[in-house]
Amino acid sequence: MIKIIVFLLLSSTLLFGQQTEKVDFLELNATVTIDTINFEIKGQVEVSFKTLKDVDSVYLDAVDMRITPSESNTLKIVNTDDKIWMTSNFKKDKSYTATFSYECEPKQALYFVGFNSTLKAYPSQVWTQGQGKYTSHWLPSLDDMNDKIIFNITYEAPKNYEVIANGHLNKTRSRLNHKSWYYEMQKPMSSYLVGFVMGDFRRTAAKSKKGTPLQVYLETRHLDKMSYTYQDHVEIFNLLEGKINVNYPWQNFKQVPVRDFLYAGMENTTLNTFSEEFVVDSIGANDRSFVNVQAHELAHQWFGNLVTETSSRHHWLHEGFATFYALEAEREIFGEDYYYFKIYKTAEELKTLSDTGKGQILVNPGGSSLTYYQKGAWALIILKEIVGKTVFENAVKNYLDNYAFKNVTTDDFMNEVELEYGQSLTNYKERWLNQKAFQSRETLEFLKKNEFIQDYMKLVAFRETRQTFKTERLDEALDFPINDYLGQEAVYQLDSSDPELSLPLYRKALNTNNLYVRQAVANSLTAVPRALKTDYETLLDDESYTTIEKALLHLWVSFPEDRHDYLDRTNDNIGFQDKNIKLLWLTLNLATSDYNPKEKSKVYSELSSHTQPGYPYQVRRHAFGYLYQINTFTEDNYKDLMEGVFHPVWQFKKFCRELLDTLMKSDLHKSELLKLRGNFSTKEKTFFNNRY
Ligand SMILES: [Zn+2]
Repeated sequence: MIKIIVFLLLSSTLLFGQQTEKVDFLELNATVTIDTINFEIKGQVEVSFKTLKDVDSVYLDAVDMRITPSESNTLKIVNTDDKIWMTSNFKKDKSYTATFSYECEPKQALYFVGFNSTLKAYPSQVWTQGQGKYTSHWLPSLDDMNDKIIFNITYEAPKNYEVIANGHLNKTRSRLNHKSWYYEMQKPMSSYLVGFVMGDFRRTAAKSKKGTPLQVYLETRHLDKMSYTYQDHVEIFNLLEGKINVNYPWQNFKQVPVRDFLYAGMENTTLNTFSEEFVVDSIGANDRSFVNVQAHELAHQWFGNLVTETSSRHHWLHEGFATFYALEAEREIFGEDYYYFKIYKTAEELKTLSDTGKGQILVNPGGSSLTYYQKGAWALIILKEIVGKTVFENAVKNYLDNYAFKNVTTDDFMNEVELEYGQSLTNYKERWLNQKAFQSRETLEFLKKNEFIQDYMKLVAFRETRQTFKTERLDEALDFPINDYLGQEAVYQLDSSDPELSLPLYRKALNTNNLYVRQAVANSLTAVPRALKTDYETLLDDESYTTIEKALLHLWVSFPEDRHDYLDRTNDNIGFQDKNIKLLWLTLNLATSDYNPKEKSKVYSELSSHTQPGYPYQVRRHAFGYLYQINTFTEDNYKDLMEGVFHPVWQFKKFCRELLDTLMKSDLHKSELLKLRGNFSTKEKTFFNNRY
């Protein structure tokens, strides 16, 4: 997954660790009915297991479920708040089967999105998130990762939806208003990797070099974005399978974007569920971030799904490896400079953390994402440098082969490396796995071997130097052929308060025609000098939604006499999935009083309508932000804000709570909110009364 915040598993691992000594769950066959009217899940489960000792009870985790055992059971089934207990006189090495049906209204791990909305542009979806949220909220399963099960699940869904889930779609069957989707796995996996997505999706199918089916999905309304969103997906798959050098372990690989997702992506086995914000058109595709998410979740299919940590203490074996291999894929696609620039940046972040005494030990439960992901990736980069490419690759291959479908610790991996290397790596382990400090000197030595990094560091060294003494250096960095990163760095170092020296260089940067260097100008030159007006205006035509958004705002502020022209030129531009340009445009329109004055109330309604729950949270966040800036909220906006304080996406929930706190400090907003209190739901009322 990208990005998990804190992984809290220690106590449960200790507790559940005991059950894996008693029982091995083998296969779970279920039919799961998705009830989109009552937001309920109903299911029938047949689970088989082998007891490893003489025991009288075993359990599955099942949170707040109503259970009805089948009459055919030879064992007894009872349930508590969070478990289903199966009791009998179980004998060592004997296999058993239990069958029961269940019903639940999941409070987490499964989300009904958009069913209460009237916005036709956003079809409703159901999706799951098992890691950190526990699959046992919607499917009886195991919260512990140490018992891997073969899950074969049939999903029953309303007929007009597509269901995408783990494994191979064996068949579908339609009857009346429902359709059944029979998905089959062949190999076992940990329960947190079970997942499905339901929605209005269409797919495009391809095959990898070795014949693995690669299926990519988009909502029907987004079909024109298929080739841009997924432009590198086959190449990424072939690249990673080649680099890892162990055949892809599952039947297929599917990718589906969903709305209001909790993270950037999640590596459900055979199914990468990722955030809809990565769905892009030809312009949005210039933003490179989705290659990273695709490669990261794909790498987890080996590192995390095939070999799985025994506990969160070894979480870097998932995230460090996925980050490392995603970087490898990006290196091939975007080039060496991109790769080195990225790892230089993460080294900088890790060094800062370490220098301020906040460094964390890598092999450690409860680490930050910076530690597990970036420090983990760096630990592998340095390890490969020490033992050499061949030893590293062979060791990784042996590690995956020897522990396939099992659970692993850091020692299991390091033992494979030492075996292949023929020497002990005690010093490396001490420095990289067991120290809080980040090994910045060792990293720097590695980075300095790269010529581009040498040039980049020479330029960075001028950051604190006055413009007069470095103009020549910055000028040189903007020479043809320009390097993306040296060019951007030069622009960010320009001092706009010294126009005589900086103006010719801003102009030179704009004339490079390099999208990223020009974007640096749009980002950093916020008060546009008149002498640069014509050149700066060309940014409105760049193939980047980030650049256009920034350029529009800065031009509007800098040249009031041309506001109409800027608004006309960007009238039809929506921007990314978060409507970054559209919402800015509506706000600037309202702030330009003589621009189409008769349409102001229509424009305000349009901006104001974007806070409603049917919109993606990123759209709502922008709309709330702009409404706050123009200090005008309608009754509906206040209600939408109250709804937002319980949103499942924690970043948005936090945003809404903070905005509400701010509004409550203003007499005007406070009196409006107090007036509306009677209309709040019980949950909202309790929250509101406790907080204020
Ligand atoms: Zn991950």
